[in-house]
Amino acid sequence: MCDKYEPSKFLSIAKCKCPQCQSGKMFNYPAWNLKKFMDMDANCKVCGLKYEIEPGFFWGAMYVSYAITTGMMLVLGGFILWISNGNADFWDYIIPIVGSMLLSSPLTYRYARVLMLQFFSPIRFNPDLAKKD
Ligand SMILES: [Zn+2]
Repeated sequence: MCDKYEPSKFLSIAKCKCPQCQSGKMFNYPAWNLKKFMDMDANCKVCGLKYEIEPGFFWGAMYVSYAITTGMMLVLGGFILWISNGNADFWDYIIPIVGSMLLSSPLTYRYARVLMLQFFSPIRFNPDLAKKD
């Protein structure tokens, strides 16, 4: 067993953890809980960081979400174009692309907020605040 805590920005993003302590969960329910996937506390349960560092901070996550969605659409559209050898019908694009956007929207919502906090805020990892267990 590994008993030494090793901070990892990648893992804290992948697991939707607080950017400051990399220990506290940002969201209270799993992404597949479609009624409560957006539910997050105002402050980190471990270090007390206020997630919305200024009023309207998460409005910027809308642009991150837009970039994620556009990237997914381009990759999926390119994949459809590739497997169909350029002979795909209009609905051959629309149905899988819109379907995948709807199915992935809880994850897109979460990762847009996580990426916004990790890369577009002055908050940095503080090893003294990390929960060591
Ligand atoms: Zn924290």
